[in-house]
Amino acid sequence: MEIAIIAHDGKKAEMIQFLMDFRALILVKKIKLVATGTTGKKAEKAGFEVEKFLSGPYGGDAQIAARVAEGKTNMVFFFRDPLGMHPHEPDIAMLMRLCDVHDVPLATNPATAELLIKSI
Ligand code: PGA
Repeated sequence: MEIAIIAHDGKKAEMIQFLMDFRALILVKKIKLVATGTTGKKAEKAGFEVEKFLSGPYGGDAQIAARVAEGKTNMVFFFRDPLGMHPHEPDIAMLMRLCDVHDVPLATNPATAELLIKSI
């Protein structure tokens, strides 16, 4: 089971809190975490093993979108900041679109991510 984690700057603290809340489940279920660069670095600092890709604005979302298309990523937790402007909006739309194309569960906020992770 591979879960991709991505959090915009205004949501990174919530992502780390979410990971810590579900640390035991992540370890017991042997969930592989992949992440955009900065989100991944913060998760590593919190003690998680993470495969990191480029930072979002430099192509990280696109790299994760490719993993979704290739069938490598089984779930995406993408905590978007609905109040922020993002230079890589086209990449964000692509990632969300490819989740829908390939029927990959996508959580865009912690409440939905909690429901998804509890279903594993
Ligand atoms: P980041 O990218 O984890 O490198 O900050 C997230 C994003 O902005 O899509």
